[in-house]
Amino acid sequence: MNDQPAASPLNTPTRHDQHGRYPKATSVEDFVRNLAAVQGRIVSACGRANRDVSGVRLLPVSKTIDEATIRLSYAAGCRMLGENKVQEAYRKWEALADLTDLRWSVIGHLQTNKAKLVARFATEFQALDSLRLAAALDRRLQAEGRSLDVFVQVNTSGEASKYGLPPEDVAAFLREQPVFSALRVRGLMTLALLSGEADRVRRCFAQLRELRDQLRQDVPAGIDLDELSMGMSGDFEIAIEEGATVVRVGQAIYGARAVPDSFYWPTASR
Ligand SMILES: *Cc1c(COP(=O)(O)O)cnc(C)c1O
Repeated sequence: MNDQPAASPLNTPTRHDQHGRYPKATSVEDFVRNLAAVQGRIVSACGRANRDVSGVRLLPVSKTIDEATIRLSYAAGCRMLGENKVQEAYRKWEALADLTDLRWSVIGHLQTNKAKLVARFATEFQALDSLRLAAALDRRLQAEGRSLDVFVQVNTSGEASKYGLPPEDVAAFLREQPVFSALRVRGLMTLALLSGEADRVRRCFAQLRELRDQLRQDVPAGIDLDELSMGMSGDFEIAIEEGATVVRVGQAIYGARAVPDSFYWPTASR
């Protein structure tokens, strides 16, 4: 890998213009087809970037999707689901407890006072962004006798409204992590600008990878930064070209959401 990656020669466009157009999946067959289509896009992006497909995990995002429909996606093979809001995730975890191998990844901003919910059921948490939250999660996890894979969320878009640590604060944040023995730091997560301008989107993803490569040179023992969670329905191919190991994909699998993104990201607009 180059120390200083040149600007990418690839000019893959975003697909944000397809937002709101994905048809709703209402059968197992729909999910089989949608998952295959997304997987095909992953394979193509890996091909362009000379990457092994096994190095990219698809995390289906089931926010706003009802439990009956989630069961159809489970039947089509989904075994780990991403949810933005912890209460919604917790409710679904309870309702779907009979699917014993279905695991949950919480991918949205978490208030400290809701740490105990995450500690109870989640396998993974991708939006760690404060020491207070790390301490609360660790305490609750110790009480539950559980541990949790976590991703540190980084704000690469420069938008004040976006959650996540500023890139320059991540090194100091990681140095504090070893005391939280129930948290296993696996890598970094980001949301790119929600923009149709592919080069600006790509710059967010490239920044996360470059930050990771730089931090890796002296991370504390016990912390590994192998994972880069970046890319969603509208931009995951660009994210893969820039090194994503986890892509979080909702609408391209489940269908367009009626709930606007501004519900999840306070001033999201496009
Ligand atoms: C909803 C969501 C996604 C997936 O977005 P889609 O447009 O449905 O693919 C990815 N990451 C986070 C944090 C989300 O909240």
